[in-house]
Amino acid sequence: MSSNPSQKRRLAVVTPRKASYKDLSVYHTRDYLDAILYSGNPGKTEGEAEPNAEFGLEDDCPYFLGLSEYVQMVAGATLTAVSALQQNLSEIAICWDGGRHHARKSQASGFCYVADCILAILALKRAPIPVASSSGGLPIPIQKPRIMYLDLDLHFSDAVSEAFYSPISSSSPQILTLSIHHTAPGFFPISERAKLPDVSSPDFDPLTLSIPLHPGASNATYAKIWPLVERVRDTFRPDFIVVQCGVDALAGDPCSTFNWSLGGDEGSLGGCIQKIVDQWAGKKLLLGGGGYNSPNAARAWAYLTSISTGNPISLETEIPDHVGFPLYGPSFTLDVPAGNMTDHNTEEYLTSVKQCFDNVIISLEQRMTASH
Ligand SMILES: [Zn+2]
Repeated sequence: MSSNPSQKRRLAVVTPRKASYKDLSVYHTRDYLDAILYSGNPGKTEGEAEPNAEFGLEDDCPYFLGLSEYVQMVAGATLTAVSALQQNLSEIAICWDGGRHHARKSQASGFCYVADCILAILALKRAPIPVASSSGGLPIPIQKPRIMYLDLDLHFSDAVSEAFYSPISSSSPQILTLSIHHTAPGFFPISERAKLPDVSSPDFDPLTLSIPLHPGASNATYAKIWPLVERVRDTFRPDFIVVQCGVDALAGDPCSTFNWSLGGDEGSLGGCIQKIVDQWAGKKLLLGGGGYNSPNAARAWAYLTSISTGNPISLETEIPDHVGFPLYGPSFTLDVPAGNMTDHNTEEYLTSVKQCFDNVIISLEQRMTASH
């Protein structure tokens, strides 16, 4: 989609290509790819592949018939969206099948078999971008692109955040990850990086950031933390923004942890995405993610698509008649309203998050300045 703030944009549907073995091996290990891709092992047919705990192919990531094709299509769709941005075909690209933020280099995890978010970031990182138009026949100066990964899923983006975590790096900062999520003892996924950053710790990396929220997080809470997200953006000045739009933080999800709503007040999921696509500089890649109330996930991604076109449809829109129509009761409308869960993110807690990020921003500024 071409970007024209607050104006309608032209939408084009692009047929995704399948990711090749080479595409996937940019991040995944050969051993893992051989376990999930029958094409990577010519001697093995798809039906012969075994569940394999070593590669995480068990529990919520079982081996299934068609896994090879599925992995190639998910990663291929995200990489097709990346190409559309890099080739200047659009300012905004969407792949709702992407956003598999728990998949690791050699391990499936949390319903994620392929690390399409990481592959997308690596592809964006690789291609230099022009700084400005040339004049007088001078070569066009180029710079390494900066990519901000923002994860709105209920769960911490463990695989993505840890893939780029580098507390002692002195190289030019190119990738910043910021995940807004719930974390608690025993709550998936377990990771040191899921906690509020401790700026005084030697492990602190100002490019690997987390904003953990307590149960019941509502629009009001997201509205209060959103200025912190924008301060991080202003300090990092990304050329590309990759947004993982998991919708399991919405009210009505079986995870029943947060109480976010799709539209309405300041701070809603729709409101946050609208700010990103209408007001943020840089090209945007919108990916999907978790979401276990399927009708609500469909509602959310349909609404976010309409926001991205610059022409948000009314939340009162009736669900059109189709084979899944009965699943959309009792409202049969587009909206995913908040429930009546108590928001446990107190003023005191949100103030502590702000104070933490005051220091995070100083540290991030120092890291950005040190690289010049
Ligand atoms: Zn999730």
